[in-house]
Amino acid sequence: MEPAHDSPAIAADSLVKTYPPDVRALDGLSLEVPAATVFGLLGPNGAGKSTTVKVLTALARPDAGSATVAGHDVLRQPDRVRRAIGVVGQRSAVDRTATGRENLLFQGRLFGLSGGGLRRRVDELLGQLGLADAAGRIVATWSGGMQRRLDVAIGLVHRPRVLFLDEPTTGLDPEARRALWDEIRRLSAEGMTILLTTHYLDEADQLASSLAIVDAGRIVAQGSPDRLKAELRGEAIHVDLATAEDAPRAASLIDRLDGFEHPVLDRSRLSVRAERAAASVPSVMAVLEGAGIGVAAVTVARPSLDDVYFRHTGRSYQAQLVETAR
Ligand code: ADP
Repeated sequence: MEPAHDSPAIAADSLVKTYPPDVRALDGLSLEVPAATVFGLLGPNGAGKSTTVKVLTALARPDAGSATVAGHDVLRQPDRVRRAIGVVGQRSAVDRTATGRENLLFQGRLFGLSGGGLRRRVDELLGQLGLADAAGRIVATWSGGMQRRLDVAIGLVHRPRVLFLDEPTTGLDPEARRALWDEIRRLSAEGMTILLTTHYLDEADQLASSLAIVDAGRIVAQGSPDRLKAELRGEAIHVDLATAEDAPRAASLIDRLDGFEHPVLDRSRLSVRAERAAASVPSVMAVLEGAGIGVAAVTVARPSLDDVYFRHTGRSYQAQLVETAR
């Protein structure tokens, strides 16, 4: 039976997965992904993102909990799940010694396609992903961005309803990233549900209509990027110091001031949150000047997804959290 139109494309309920001897990779993880949306899964290394994807793609069995994907139960109907999904992993599935077209034909045959139907599907995908001109060339001669798009095409041959993309743009240059983002948006607009894990917060911000932050095997925050940002009060003040050596001392000085939270350092940039950031800049400057710490620039910004991430995981995404004396 086909699932009702408005039922979630992915639903996970209280998933638990332990690895020997006692790693609790998933610790009661639940999430819901509405059909035809892009959902971002974020979290620090070791948080449980890959394990979640493995369970949802029927590659690993949870110890407890349940999940459905495209209306099929991952435990009871793993074969149906596999036919309904496309998976584009971090490691390329491409045979670099074959041409792009051969790669797609091979994948299509694995899913039981053949003849004119398969050839038409392959031509359609090559056209959609901008790979038609290169299709007859050995993939080893292609750019990294083209190879990644071929990976996505391979995941799409059998017209899956749900696509899992594991860090799809890692290692791509900005132009290739944008091309893949456009493709992800197009697929979603056509009705595909996409679950994306990413190390790039701007990618989740750009693409995902909702996202979940995973930490220690649980979802610690879930919602649209805008809603998650709106939950954070205040703004960020970014202080670019004249030299990075002063950064730890600057962080510790500002941490002692009232009304500033979460000092985070990234080389010579110190970021703090404040309720009324613009009005607080002079007091930050006064403290730093008083300590003889040179400042190159100060900017005030609305909360970013980076701030959301920090708030829920206690870790800065790009930057390194400085444990200041409290
Ligand atoms: P993420 O994808 O967020 O980096 P993972 O799901 O890969 O996190 O890992 C979650 C936790 O489970 C980590 O502590 C990791 O070391 C552990 N883990 C993952 N796979 C295995 C495995 N096959 N055997 C033992 N431990 C594992």
